[in-house]
Amino acid sequence: MEGIAAKQACPCGVMHREVRSTVQVGPGILDDVASLVQRLPVGSSCLLVCDQNTYEAAGKRVVLQLEQAGKRVQMLQYVRKGPLTADAYALGELAFELSAKPDFLVGVGSGTMSDLVRYTAYIVGVPFILIATAPSMDGYASTVAPLVQKGSKRTFLAKEPLAIVGDTDVLANAPPHMIVAGVGDLLGKFIAKADWKLGHRITGEPYCPVIQEQVDQALGLCLGEMKRSCLADRRFVQVVMEGLILSGQAITMFGNSRPASGADHHLAHFWEMKALEQGRTIGLHGQKVGLGTRIMLQLYAEVAQRVQNSDRADLRDLFASLMSDLPSVSEYDALLKTASIDFAPSTLGITADWIEEGLLKAMYVRDRYTILRFASSQGWLEELASTVLRDYK
Ligand SMILES: [Zn+2]
Ligand SMILES: [Zn+2]
Repeated sequence: MEGIAAKQACPCGVMHREVRSTVQVGPGILDDVASLVQRLPVGSSCLLVCDQNTYEAAGKRVVLQLEQAGKRVQMLQYVRKGPLTADAYALGELAFELSAKPDFLVGVGSGTMSDLVRYTAYIVGVPFILIATAPSMDGYASTVAPLVQKGSKRTFLAKEPLAIVGDTDVLANAPPHMIVAGVGDLLGKFIAKADWKLGHRITGEPYCPVIQEQVDQALGLCLGEMKRSCLADRRFVQVVMEGLILSGQAITMFGNSRPASGADHHLAHFWEMKALEQGRTIGLHGQKVGLGTRIMLQLYAEVAQRVQNSDRADLRDLFASLMSDLPSVSEYDALLKTASIDFAPSTLGITADWIEEGLLKAMYVRDRYTILRFASSQGWLEELASTVLRDYK
């Protein structure tokens, strides 16, 4: 029933899913969780999922709010020495806590926590609420969950949250690299847009200007604020969080991550796979996307130059239009500098070899047309990869 009611027609010809999550972002919002929960169709018992850090940051206040709303609260607090991974072990721990059959789940955390809870809620068929503790990625509003299965990352179908709560007093106290990661995930939308338009023109795949406008808005908000305020400002984290939710909703509406993920993301996924193979941790998703975006801006500039020297007038027009929406690499660097943000490979633990390998192989990570496939189709990729690489050696 939900599927039928949720579809809506769009001028682009594709039926988009309607976004239904209640979103609350702002200062002191955590104090309103009790009244929010009372308004939502969630039932009377819940399992709250958090880790030590997110319990301290928000979880303990959320428990009080839930109890104030008259809910029975059971809690799973993950304990890890290092970062929590969304793998079979973490899912198993969550499954053990479900024997009391809670009516709804509450996830308190950011990327990994929301993926675990989103997937479990989908499998068990109960609603869930997300309490964000860091504006670190755009998955809060999405309907898929990247999980680690047998050592590699796979994306699984999951479920949209009933509500997303982002208290900017909590978000502003997130570790700075998590806020930086959220900015990186949003900056990747430059490449997502160019790749989507490129794919649409070259392969005829559907492109939706309405959804693109929403992603443009998400990116635009972030860019504006980067020039004005610093990372830990309440206003800055509010804008980043709202942008990330808009972007996640665009993914939900379109039905896959095309509006929000291009070759920059494929590079990030490629590095993530390499790191998993080697049992290493290499920064957060959004930080890798921020670096991937810089690399793809370089590749776009190189490809565009070759196209301008070619005799293909149609491609010259296409690339002139794509490039008009992209910053130059020096503009990108200047923007990062203004906001005191650094996506240097050395900071993330990414070597020049990985960048080179990624440039040559990341197009096989997803079956999706990007600038990497275009460059490869022209026979330019290897040569341009070594040109781009000079910046990182
Ligand atoms: Zn992302
Ligand atoms: Zn559309």
